[in-house]
Amino acid sequence: MALKIIASTCSACGACEFECPNAAISMKGSAYAIKASACTECDGDAPKCRAVCPVDDCIVQA
Ligand code: SF4
Ligand code: SF4
Repeated sequence: MALKIIASTCSACGACEFECPNAAISMKGSAYAIKASACTECDGDAPKCRAVCPVDDCIVQA
């Protein structure tokens, strides 16, 4: 279970990177990406990355 970032919609604002409690988000090329093996979907809480992302439907279920 993990979320993923749609690279084509990510504006690379960086807001999500430091919100992740598992440091699963990092810059990859011209957009940010979630390392699936590190994402726990915030253990049932509302995904912190999605909460701060200013782009609709940018962070989705992997
Ligand atoms: S859902 Fe939570 S654990 Fe997964 S990338 Fe987003 S902030 Fe990190
Ligand atoms: S908050 Fe959204 S738009 Fe900003 S870097 Fe993260 S995924 Fe991309």
